[in-house]
Amino acid sequence: MQKIYEELVEKAISCGAYKAQVIDIEKIRFDEGLRKACEANYCGNYGRNYACPPYVGEPSQLIARAKSYDKGLVFQTVTAIEDSYDIEGMEEAAKNHRKTSDQIEKAVAVHYSEYLQLAAGGCTRCAQCAQITGEPCRMPDKAISSLEAYCMDCPQLAAVSGMNYINGQNTVTYFGMFLLPQTEIDG
Ligand code: SF4
Repeated sequence: MQKIYEELVEKAISCGAYKAQVIDIEKIRFDEGLRKACEANYCGNYGRNYACPPYVGEPSQLIARAKSYDKGLVFQTVTAIEDSYDIEGMEEAAKNHRKTSDQIEKAVAVHYSEYLQLAAGGCTRCAQCAQITGEPCRMPDKAISSLEAYCMDCPQLAAVSGMNYINGQNTVTYFGMFLLPQTEIDG
């Protein structure tokens, strides 16, 4: 198992992650109150994306789901931006974070069939989420939710993963995670 974790960490780095680590799920602090940050809707996805609150599910259900996994492959991407008003730079960084996450997924899928992918922000599998036009989710099994929607305390997650939550002036840091079950495909 340890070998698989080391391989996944190496893969995450080679896919563009700044740092990556496999941690025990029990080390993560969950807080249902963090859902309030989603409700404040700074990202604009609240009520406009099936993988975001309120559609993604009740905090207690999502926390229980996350806790049903054994390990978390945590990774962070760190990107230089012009300044804290560089919205375009942040959007580009978020796009690249997703690409990194999707590349890491290919390595995760070699070893696991039942994993859960979480990334920064709302699901971007479709160019426009079907919620906006009132249609059903097009890929309910593949929709990607955020760590925040699952009520994870991201600064604490960074600390237990040996990472900085913020990585210096004029940079943007995004976190992603793959929740891994106890048994791999051939385990
Ligand atoms: S898969 Fe498409 S429809 Fe479903 S949550 Fe993601 S973006 Fe929305």
